[in-house]
Amino acid sequence: MAAQRSYGDEVVVLRTTQLGEADRILTLFGRERGKIRAVARGVRRTTSKMGGRLEPFAVVDAQLYSKNPEDRSRLETVTQAVTVESFTEAIIADFERYAAASAMAESVDEIIDAEPAPLQYALLIQGLRSLAGAERDPLLELGSYLLRSLSLAGWEPSFNECARCGEPGPHARVSFAAGGAVCASCGPSSGATTAAHIDTMRLLWALLAGNWRVALASDAETRADASRIVKAYTNYHLDRPLRSFAAVDEAWRMRGAAGT
Ligand SMILES: [Zn+2]
Repeated sequence: MAAQRSYGDEVVVLRTTQLGEADRILTLFGRERGKIRAVARGVRRTTSKMGGRLEPFAVVDAQLYSKNPEDRSRLETVTQAVTVESFTEAIIADFERYAAASAMAESVDEIIDAEPAPLQYALLIQGLRSLAGAERDPLLELGSYLLRSLSLAGWEPSFNECARCGEPGPHARVSFAAGGAVCASCGPSSGATTAAHIDTMRLLWALLAGNWRVALASDAETRADASRIVKAYTNYHLDRPLRSFAAVDEAWRMRGAAGT
């Protein structure tokens, strides 16, 4: 059996689950070690200082201990946690921010494994920081994050040129199987397609490119339509539909009801 080992890593807390009376199981995204599953003991006791630091969307310097470092599927133990940057409070204070952050965390949990993914890590930190700082429309922020995260995972869509033949756009339909916009001649042989208005296509392109000048000039209807396509594109590539999209849908409904 391999030697027991202690590691330090900066981690983002993606998910927490209660374990027994006082413990918590954590899914962490480590900057250097990728996905880490760990238990934090005693953190649900009111006297635990570490507990408050290990909430979803917190970034902490963690000390982790593994009984068997060769087997990354084993639960590790968090022995220390020092807050680096906590986005938790600012995110949970607002339902749209919370819905967006939950979908970011859930999707990256599906994408990464126990390998370093520094670009995904940087993108997630940037997304959470922007949500916590209320910099932009949280639901647009989520759309941009998902398109860029999926691109890093190898599924970069095209929203201008035809994804099949490269014919310059704009085009009127999107095929998830083809990887984005498809022209009129490729459309019929591209599997299931969905119609996208020219403004929606432009917004999707801007979200992927991180062109916020163009993205923030979009109207409410175009934003909702782009979100529909981003969610479908995400679910197409991940193994299962994201549960957090229910909260995202609720956020859109509340926006509609408020007439904004
Ligand atoms: Zn084509």
